[in-house]
Amino acid sequence: MIRVGVNGYGTIGKRVADAVTAQPDMELVGVTKTRPNHGAETAVRRGYDLYAATAASLDRFVDSNLPTAGALSDLLESIDVVVDCCPSGVGAENRATYAAHDTPAVFQGGEDAAVADTSFTARTNFDAARGADAVRVVSCNTTGLARLLAPLEEAYGVEKARVTLIRRGGDPSETDRGPINDIVPDPVSVPSHHGPDVNTVLSDVDVHTAALKAPVTAMHTHSVDVTLQAAPTTAAVRERLAGEDRLFLVPPDAGIDGAGALKEYAMDRGRPRGDLWENCIWAESVSVSGRDVSLFQNVHQEADVVPENVDAIRAMTTDCSASTSVERTNESLGVGLQSLLDADQRSRGPVAADD
Ligand code: NAD
Repeated sequence: MIRVGVNGYGTIGKRVADAVTAQPDMELVGVTKTRPNHGAETAVRRGYDLYAATAASLDRFVDSNLPTAGALSDLLESIDVVVDCCPSGVGAENRATYAAHDTPAVFQGGEDAAVADTSFTARTNFDAARGADAVRVVSCNTTGLARLLAPLEEAYGVEKARVTLIRRGGDPSETDRGPINDIVPDPVSVPSHHGPDVNTVLSDVDVHTAALKAPVTAMHTHSVDVTLQAAPTTAAVRERLAGEDRLFLVPPDAGIDGAGALKEYAMDRGRPRGDLWENCIWAESVSVSGRDVSLFQNVHQEADVVPENVDAIRAMTTDCSASTSVERTNESLGVGLQSLLDADQRSRGPVAADD
């Protein structure tokens, strides 16, 4: 069993903790919190051992009603790998602590690429994380773009990708984020940093990005235009994308018109927290004209990086192949959303209700 700790039990950390717990080859040893708040209570109620993130905060836990197993240093001594899910920039500050305990670490996309030996998505460069001491799972937007561009590059060659990212203003729980009544270029400079970040995991693809922030919380939306080196049919591109486990082609008959309906669908399908681990690509939006492919996709920022963290742990600590790890992660979490309303899916027969 791979013994895992999660440092920073917030939006990403609580999801990673649950995903690790679902793996047959992993054990969640514990999670940290900076203070005994509702998140700490949730961890305890889920049966997770709770550690104080800093020695200074340990007293606050001792004074609370929440059982505490110790401080971060105790957790680091008991695990094979730590997943750092602290706010952007705090991960880099933690790196020396992890190294002092000789504990390999997975970092998140809010950190600079320099925090780790390699950046990572399972689809593009699983083996780069093999045996690494520090791996950075790229951001939600970068993960979504890399998953989409990798199969297009492999099948047809990508001459140039141009993407406009309409980013959510904040996560649903982030009451202090915005904008609340505007659409703001962010960053205002073009191209944005997202294209170079894609190149940390998919080096040969020419991708130009521009980004805005909108007053929504549910998901990011990407408007994608890709010039390919070949000229496939629209049907061939749809089929190629539909063959990827972590891409969900939203069927036209589903009546899903945006992030609200997507999240409703995910909740109705029994997804924990309404999480969508897959990129959601509107099948109708996929259109090819000559060598140019256009499409819209949505990315659930709180969720798409979660299976990637699980695969990063396996890549760092085992000799498991990429395909075996991804299959195990997908099966244990239920990644690979399919709809009975998809024409191809209908011809394949019914899908189990809890898939
Ligand atoms: P968050 O604020 O929801 O959670 C961070 C947690 O870490 C909080 O519970 C906070 O109290 C805790 N924390 C703060 N300082 C700490 C410390 N010194 N030690 C331990 N814990 C500490 O943040 P998040 O959204 O989960 O983001 C975490 C990382 O994941 C960031 O790098 C972010 O860029 C990245 N990320 C976030 C999203 C997203 O949309 N939320 C998506 C992909 C990647």
